[in-house]
Amino acid sequence: MSLLAPPGLIDSERFRAFGPRHLQEISEKYGLSGEMREAVRLISQVLPFRVNEYVLSQLIDWERIPEDPIFQLVFPQPGMLDDNDMATLEKLSADRADKLLLRDAVKDIRSRLNPHPSGQMEHNVPTLDGERLAGVQHKYRETVLYFPGQGQTCHAYCTYCFRWAQFVGDADLKFSASGPDRLIAYLRRNPQVSDVLITGGDPMVMSTERLRSHIEPLLAVETVRTIRIGTKSVAYWPQRYVTDQDADDVLRLFEQVVASGRNLALMGHFSHPREFSTDIARQAVARVRATGALVYCQAPLIAHVNDDADTWAEMWRSELAAGAVPYYLFVERDTGPHEYFKVPLAKALGIFQSAYRQLPGLARTVRGPVMSTTPGKVVVDGVEETPEGRFFQLKLAQARNPALVGRSFRARYSTDAAWLDDLELDATVPADIAAAVRGTAGH
Ligand code: SF4
Repeated sequence: MSLLAPPGLIDSERFRAFGPRHLQEISEKYGLSGEMREAVRLISQVLPFRVNEYVLSQLIDWERIPEDPIFQLVFPQPGMLDDNDMATLEKLSADRADKLLLRDAVKDIRSRLNPHPSGQMEHNVPTLDGERLAGVQHKYRETVLYFPGQGQTCHAYCTYCFRWAQFVGDADLKFSASGPDRLIAYLRRNPQVSDVLITGGDPMVMSTERLRSHIEPLLAVETVRTIRIGTKSVAYWPQRYVTDQDADDVLRLFEQVVASGRNLALMGHFSHPREFSTDIARQAVARVRATGALVYCQAPLIAHVNDDADTWAEMWRSELAAGAVPYYLFVERDTGPHEYFKVPLAKALGIFQSAYRQLPGLARTVRGPVMSTTPGKVVVDGVEETPEGRFFQLKLAQARNPALVGRSFRARYSTDAAWLDDLELDATVPADIAAAVRGTAGH
């Protein structure tokens, strides 16, 4: 059973993406200053920029820009690139400048922003009959990630996106599969895989018909028990589930997955409680839940966007009130404008713990702060005071090597460390964990 779309909203909005070419239009309508517009124009030559009318008109508080968290979430900001790079872009973007020099400069800046964090390109790509499986990653024993080719964009882009490199048109950096046939063959030979995470970009940018062509074949594989869809559509374009032309069809598709006996989980990316503040966003969650699908919520902790405990506590409470499950608070990955966004682990832990303490028991399903690293998901569990000094208590909540799952270890406390690589492991850390963490274990 699903909820009816609210009267008056049907067909009232059509999705339209805005990018660097529309900055003048955005400025005129929303009052972006000339200086800000120029900064966005320059930086968006390096980092992707995409927004839509819903985000512009319903989520951003234009009275509060540039500090407004949703503005920071989608508009490239001065400070994301260093002054020298900004000066180079400005010089080479001038009318009569050499376009080839500009292209090379952009390429050079991108290459210095660590476009493949945590070995994304080298690791985890499985093979079938000796050939690499395009658009598939098999990181954890029971879980496969699937990147359908038509779902490799989003309704808007997050300035901190760790997959930013795939949105800037460099074919080498793209993951995508044209169809599910080879994935299906792989799953039949790997019955230990129970979970398929369909991800992107955002798979929910696809029409229902396309999405169906990727999901239905999975239902024929008996060993697949859970289908997850990684998406920010509820935050960026809730119309997808309420008023889009095929909104009802997508809910029927979800019902079909649930009726097949599978668990369907929408892994919703929510960065700020404001994303839950509109009627249509709450309506979207209610409609998805009415299909029998579960909605889990996760996001990274990001300076300038959500780096305080009250914001997270409010967001988790809003998620719970909407019937969704708070799931992960991630540590921002070391890619893109990481210097601008990073929150040191010690501060991240303080924010997590302070927000967690404010929650009712049912919202304490959330875990964090979590680093999604090459060996697996490392949770910063706490700080330990010992006669030898202070340590971070760390735990592998998930691991590429199943023997490491659930195991704890520790590293020297630091106020500056913002990622696993910055930490000094303690001498007591077992050899197999140390080898995995330092990247010296065999893959
Ligand atoms: S919605 Fe997800 S994939 Fe898309 S830009 Fe944001 S973080 Fe990246």
